[in-house]
Amino acid sequence: IIEFQNVTKSYGDHVVLDALDFSVRRGEKVTIIGPSGSGKSTVLRILMTLEDIQDGVIHVAGKPLWHEEKNGQLMPASEAHLRMMRKEMGMVFQQFNLFPHMTVMRNVTEAPRQVLGLSRDKAKKRALKYLDLVGMTEHADKFPSQLSGGQQQRVGIARALAMHPNILLFDEPTSALDPELVGEVLQVIEHLASQHDLTILLVTHEMQFARQISDRVCFFDQGKFVEEGRPEEIFTEPREERTKAFLSSFL
Ligand code: ATP
Ligand code: MG
Repeated sequence: IIEFQNVTKSYGDHVVLDALDFSVRRGEKVTIIGPSGSGKSTVLRILMTLEDIQDGVIHVAGKPLWHEEKNGQLMPASEAHLRMMRKEMGMVFQQFNLFPHMTVMRNVTEAPRQVLGLSRDKAKKRALKYLDLVGMTEHADKFPSQLSGGQQQRVGIARALAMHPNILLFDEPTSALDPELVGEVLQVIEHLASQHDLTILLVTHEMQFARQISDRVCFFDQGKFVEEGRPEEIFTEPREERTKAFLSSFL
């Protein structure tokens, strides 16, 4: 459902993704691990078209993310195309990124109303369903500043789900949380991971959790995938020295 072919991304001379090939099948749960600055967030941000690329091709659900012009120049997606991609994928951010001036309810109904054109009633009904799923119904009329980090992140997840995405992207969803709040967010993600149809691409440093929920774990370093495999392979018998060194820093 996601396919990167030969994708290169750089900031000036600094190459962040280096001729990257990567794919995720429909329904697969994939975790990306790797050191800080290795380009993990960049992979997700590119998928959300929050960043552009310098070379290569990316397909999501069989459709190209960027349009190639006749001269080989990559052009950003058109507005119509972007809308379509935003229906396909939802992203949950490290820093929650809720709209601070909107209530929880409005945070969750805004995109379904604006992007999908749902009526107020329909959007509200849908929001209540997902707020219930993440255990946040009773906080629907509060503002983000009145919530704990764990609660804000659960709203962030409900907001992503309300768009009915086929693919959910998580960028270190628990790393901004106090330790005692991590569990409640992981529990929600674990529930989502049990859903057969949903494709999940997760960046995390929660190795134990990655091991539980992933079909596949990819170790990423310096803009490349160093190795990938089933969680029991990567975590118990990594083949590459760099993977071993990285994992040993978590023991
Ligand atoms: P972390 O674990 O710290 O979140 P990461 O693997 O997510 O790291 P990225 O955020 O993808 O790393 O960043 C990859 C590289 O791109 C880093 O070296 C970073 O300095 C660089 N980078 C990111 N955004 C920009 C930018 N706007 N301008 C220049 N360089 C950038
Ligand atoms: Mg990051």
